[in-house]
Amino acid sequence: MEYDKNNIFARILRKEVPAQVVYEDDYALAFHDVNPKAPIHILVIPKGEFISFCDFVEKASPALMVGFEKAIHHVIHMFNLQEMGFRLLTNQGVHGGQEVPHYHMHIFGGRPLGRMLSQE
Ligand code: AMP
Repeated sequence: MEYDKNNIFARILRKEVPAQVVYEDDYALAFHDVNPKAPIHILVIPKGEFISFCDFVEKASPALMVGFEKAIHHVIHMFNLQEMGFRLLTNQGVHGGQEVPHYHMHIFGGRPLGRMLSQE
């Protein structure tokens, strides 16, 4: 599968589409999810053309992998989520229900988050 350069997160990275950005550095961009599923719902995306978790692990440089993880950690602290806790989630592919084909990590927090998976 080839990376779609016009997916919505690629366009947000290129600043063609606005987003409610909360953090940016050389490795990652973090912004509010447009359809939040929790009081705090942030998306963190790596800077580069990566479709999914597997694509990222296979292709990203070690520096980018570390930088991406540290950006997630930074955002967790920005929202003071480390005390009460949070959930990190990434979806991949059809069974994962991935909608946007640019690797992203969801950060959920701000209330008890319930069961790990829906029972549907
Ligand atoms: P996923 O199912 O893991 O691919 O999640 C994609 C997420 O991106 C969903 O939670 C959407 O609400 C969110 N989303 C889609 N378009 C935008 C956008 N333009 N700005 C912010 N979040 C978005």
